[in-house]
Amino acid sequence: MAAKAAAKKSSKGASSKKDAYKTEGGKLVRTKPVCPKCGPGVFMATHKDRVSCGKCGYTEFAKKE
Ligand SMILES: [Zn+2]
Repeated sequence: MAAKAAAKKSSKGASSKKDAYKTEGGKLVRTKPVCPKCGPGVFMATHKDRVSCGKCGYTEFAKKE
């Protein structure tokens, strides 16, 4: 039983939220925009020319440089 528990701990692909962060130079940075209405923790879906919040529906268009 002990071996089974250890195997479960090393299984991957459990958290998708983990992809929203990455470490850069020892600093934790967000790779996805967060919703300004819902606050930190609610990530927005990125599209080709805009980002949108799946929770409240807030949409922000990409700024053209
Ligand atoms: Zn939102």
